[in-house]
Order: sequence, then structure tokens, then C-alpha cells
Amino acid sequence: MFGKILIANRGEIAVRVIKTCRRMGIKTVVVYSDADAGSKAVEMADEAVHIGGSPAAESYLVMDKIIDAVKQTGAEAVHPGFGFLSENPAFAKRLEDENIAFIGPNVNAIEAMGDKISSKKLAAEAGVSTVPGHMGLITDTAEAIQVSRDIGYPIMIKASAGGGGKGIRIAYNDQDVEEGFQAVKAEAAASFGDDRIFIEKFILQPRHIEIQVMGDKHGNCVYLFERECSIQRRNQKVLEEAPSPLLDEATRNKMGEQAVALAKAVQYDSAGTVEFVASGENKSFYFLEMNTRLQVEHPVTEMITGVDLVEQMLRSAAGEKLTIDQAGLKINGWAIESRVYAEDPYRNFLPSIGRLKRFSPPKEGELEGGTVRIDSGVREGDEISMFYDPMIAKLVTHGKDRDEALDTQAKALDRFYIDGIRDNIPFCAAVMDDSRFRSGNITTAYIKEEFPNGFSGTVATAEQELLLISVVAYIHSLQRARAALISDRIVADIAPRTDWVVVLGSDYHPVHIEINDGVASLTVDGTSHELKTSWQPGQHLVEGVLDGQPFAVKFEDRTEGYMMRHRGVSLRVLVCREEVAELHRRLPEKEKPDLSKLIISPMPGLVVSVDVEVGQEVQEGEAVCIVEAMKMQNTIRAEAVGRVKAINVEGGESVAADQIMVEFE
Ligand code: ADP
Ligand code: ADP
Ligand code: MG
Repeated sequence: MFGKILIANRGEIAVRVIKTCRRMGIKTVVVYSDADAGSKAVEMADEAVHIGGSPAAESYLVMDKIIDAVKQTGAEAVHPGFGFLSENPAFAKRLEDENIAFIGPNVNAIEAMGDKISSKKLAAEAGVSTVPGHMGLITDTAEAIQVSRDIGYPIMIKASAGGGGKGIRIAYNDQDVEEGFQAVKAEAAASFGDDRIFIEKFILQPRHIEIQVMGDKHGNCVYLFERECSIQRRNQKVLEEAPSPLLDEATRNKMGEQAVALAKAVQYDSAGTVEFVASGENKSFYFLEMNTRLQVEHPVTEMITGVDLVEQMLRSAAGEKLTIDQAGLKINGWAIESRVYAEDPYRNFLPSIGRLKRFSPPKEGELEGGTVRIDSGVREGDEISMFYDPMIAKLVTHGKDRDEALDTQAKALDRFYIDGIRDNIPFCAAVMDDSRFRSGNITTAYIKEEFPNGFSGTVATAEQELLLISVVAYIHSLQRARAALISDRIVADIAPRTDWVVVLGSDYHPVHIEINDGVASLTVDGTSHELKTSWQPGQHLVEGVLDGQPFAVKFEDRTEGYMMRHRGVSLRVLVCREEVAELHRRLPEKEKPDLSKLIISPMPGLVVSVDVEVGQEVQEGEAVCIVEAMKMQNTIRAEAVGRVKAINVEGGESVAADQIMVEFE
């Protein structure tokens, strides 16, 4: 086994690899860019080498710098993580030439699978079921239309070099192909420098189901069952689970055997993933592509199989035999992962950048029967920059069955507190509580279908309202009691009291509360309840038991009232004396400031384009400009109809958060 390896990556995956190396007694080196100096991975590694500027093109993507770092530190092998150079055959080849082990598959396997059309041909030859379609490349629109008609609509136009959801388009008729063919070709040329296109049938009720494979250099290869990743937004996976609610034993084994057949066809000798699209209609499944690296969502597989995939990768790369065999692999329970993204679900999932004022994940280990695992590359106080992927943590939970895994996930999300930036935790929690998701009847269109107008939080159920009212009454009473102790001027407003009115939206709830040593007796809207908690002022998470039911609620103080969060619910709540409540009842709703006349950059980034001109009339919802941050192009839209008065930025320019980009008359 290696004595020292280098990790050519950053963030949570670098931390993840370090953890296994520590357990195996292997020393680690990480490389880091300017933005990552002092990161959690740098702190945890035995050695760290600075390799350049924050943009990946100046650091994590520069092969020479990584190879220099290997030589400088005497590392024997390189783990590439995912993204960056992980699927770059030229990088694997360079390492081979330099006699440095690559903790990934052989160069030929990466090359063979790097291209969708050639890998599809290879798969078909290996007896793997492929999407019906045309196996050749298509050069012009007329041919594309002919091929599409032959296949039968709907069809998918795909870039052979595509990846990360780019270079893909569905077409339902000739006209869609007419428009889509050139668009995909242009996008492929721009993104991958390769505009080869093919066309295949669009599988109805598509579900993304992938098989984890693991091979060694001795001809052994096993499958570690499937993961379902159908919950995607703009082709980005958000939630992943294992096993899949769709598969039965027979289908699972068939997919696994086909995945292994394909892997063996290229002497696959590391961890890899064979992606399939399966039809929810009839469980038929078809090969999509093979990812020749560790996958972001590998922890769900580890949770149900008990196998450490990074350990197996290290062993294979060192020439050892797999320590697992097919007969010994069993599925134990169910696991689900939420990708926690730095983004604002309430504002169309715009990337969110800034300092993590608070970052407090739930405890790892047991949670009410289930199990929690956190894979994260950040700490409280860290800066989330615009340079990299917006994923800051993965929250993985395991249970004896799907319901328990999902229940545990929901409870763990309730206990994950982040402040300083926005996060998608309320969105993930809303999905956990959604009846369609719970039923397992999902497809890749789930988010689009269930949240057609974006996410605006879920509506609190009567039980959730009672919980929020009880909790807010508790914290408010205790905070006031503390304030009264500290202040010797007991003014009416801060005097300890037992009767309050909790204002939720336009509803007024009278509450009577008496607290004794962490136990509160409450009367809410005339009914009695008991709340127990060890919460102390200063904490932002309230954990406790209400009428025998365990709960966790997050809250923040606001100038007026509190922001309360639980599952997908986010509510502004006011607690006041009856006299003050009476005043509020009479007060008209405060007007929001009118920002519709300005287009403000929601984050620091790079202006890709401004799509309007001075004097132009713009409709509500129309695209005004595109700002790129965290690898994503974000379309900024007009909030109201208006005529453009001034444009303050141009394409190629950097913008700061809250900078005024366009003004309307
Ligand atoms: P999957 O692994 O399931 O295919 P993705 O395609 O989203 O999911 O994962 C690969 C992507 O992960 C890369 O394209 C890259 O943007 C992103 N990535 C690379 N390094 C990291 C990292 N350290 N932390 C989080 N994301 C990363
Ligand atoms: P990428 O390299 O961007 O990951 P994939 O070929 O894996 O591209 O496709 C991305 C997603 O598009 C898949 O997860 C799947 O949901 C969907 N998809 C791809 N091909 C088809 C198809 N033929 N029919 C239906 N959905 C498809
Ligand atoms: Mg894919």
C-alpha cells in the first residue's frame, strides 16, 4: 500500500479522501488555490502545496503544477476526486509516464468511456441495453430531422462530448429539431470544443438509475447495486438514494450484470458508475454513459453496503485484489443524500456567496433510530467563494427501510443550521415531506412538475403551526425573563409575563405559558400542551419534545419578531402583549420598497451578457442579463414591465453583489 498520496481536488471530496487515508495510515498531501488557503482540507492533510490562483484554470486544472507538487512531496499516487482532472485521460497518461500511480481506472478505460457515442457502441457490443436511436454522428439539420422521424418523437439531441447536463435537448417535433440541432452543436463547440452530435429516443417517465462498479487489476469486478438520482434541477442532482424504489431483484441483477460486462470490456480497475435511464412505465432500462471516477453520491452506496469505496480504490491502484466479492455483497436498509448547496431556493436557486457566520451540521451517528453521516469541506467562518461548485456539504442518512431513511433525513435537515449564506435545506426538507416523493413515483421531471413556479416554502400544517407557536412563545418568554434579570429598569415591554399573542401572518394566537426548569405548560388557542427543551438563549436551534413528539426548530431574531424554520416552512413570527397586538391589527401592512425599477446583481460574478438595450420595453419575467457565478449562468429577469433607462454594465465585466446593473424609467 502507498505511504503517501496527493489529492488533486478540494472541498468535501478532499476531506472525504483524507478520512479514509488516515484510517489506513496513509499520509496525505492536498494542493490548494489562493481561495482555499486555510481550508478544512488544507488543515486536515499532512502536507499542503499552494498551486496558484483561485480560478480552477490557474490551479486545479493545471497538470504541470500538480505533478510538480507530487514530485516535491514524494507522494506515490494521485487521487483526483471528481470534476477537475478526474476524467481527463491526458492527466492519467502523464502520471503513468512519470511513474506516479493514478487512483482511478486505466487510461484506455477513461478514453473509451469519455465519449458518449463510442461508449454507447462499446456498450451495445458488450450486450448492454442501449437507448434506441441512430448510432452514427449527424452532420446537418435535414439529416437530423430524417433520423428523428425514423426513431419517432420525442427524441433527444446529444453532444457526444457532453457532460454536466450541457449539450442535451429534447425535441417533440420537426420544428424542435430544426431549432435544437444547431443550438446543441453550438453549445457543444463552445463548452467542449467538439461539436459531434447524435440522436436517440427520449425515454418516457425517465428515471436516472446508476450502478456502482468496482474493479481491480486482477480481472475482478463487482457491482454494488444501484443509486437513484432522479431528483435533479437543471440536470444537477439534488437528492440521491440507494436502493431505487423502482427496481425489483431481477431488474437490479440484470442491470448490475450488464454494468459489470461493460466494465470488464475495458478492463475496468477502479470505482466507476454506469448510468442508465430507466422507464417508470415498464422498468425497461438503457445505458447512458459511464463515469470513470468516484461519484459525488457514493456515500449512499457505502451506507447500504458497508464498503468504503475510497479504500477499495486505493487498494486497486496499489495493485491489491478487491476485498469484496459479489456473493458477499448485500443491501442493508436504505440511504438518502441531500446535496446542501449554497443557493437561495426562494430566489430561483440563485447561488449564494459569503461568509459562513454559522455552520452547524447535525451530529453524526444515531438519530432517533436512523443514522446520520456528514461529508463537508467547510467550517464555520469559512468564505464561500464564487470560483467553485456551490455544493458545501452532503447530508446522508440511513434507516432500516425507505421511510426511516427519509424520516431521519428530514429530522437531520431540521437540525442543520447555516447562517451567513442561503442554503437549499428548506427545499430538501419540503421534498422529504412531499407525498409524491414519499410514494417513490418520481421521474427526472419531478422538480419541474412539482415546483413549476419555483419554491416559496411549504404551508405549515396545523401541527406545525402549533409547534412554531409553542416554540416561539418559549424562547420569547425566556429571552424576556433573562433581559429583565439583567436590566434593573423593568419597563412594561420587557417585564416577565405569562400571556402573549403570537402573530403568524394575519392570524393572532393567544398563548399562556408557564416555564419551570425546561418544562413549559402552555395554553395555545385554548388547548393545553407540554413542551420540554434544554434550549438556552444564544442557541439558534431548539430541540425538544412537544406533547411527547421530538422536534427541532431553527430560528433567528429579527428587528421585529423572529424567523422560524421547520421542514419546508419558513415563517416570520411576532410575539407581543395583547395591547401591542391590538395596535398591529389596526396598522396597515407595511409597503415594501419598490425595487422593480432596478436590476441588481444578486451576487458577485461575471456579466456574461446584457440582453436589452436602452429604450427597449421589457416584459415582466423577460431576461435582462446573465451573470455567471459558481459555474452557473444565472438569468436575471425583469420583475415588472418597464422601459430601459440605463445600462451600467457590459458583458465580460465583474459585478459586486447588489451592484445596480440596469435601470428602468
Ligand atoms: P455525479 O458525480 O453524480 O455525476 P456531478 O456531475 O455533479 O455528479 O459531479 C461532478 C462534479 O462535481 C464536477 O463536474 C464538479 O463540478 C463537481 N466538483 C468537483 N470537485 C468538487 C468538490 N471538491 N466538491 C464539490 N463538487 C465538486
Ligand atoms: P451528462 O453527461 O450531462 O450527465 P447524460 O447522458 O448522463 O448526460 O444525461 C443527463 C440526464 O439526462 C440523465 O440523468 C437523464 O435523466 C437524462 N437523459 C439522458 N438521455 C435520456 C434519454 N434518452 N431519455 C430520457 N432522459 C434522458
Ligand atoms: Mg450523466
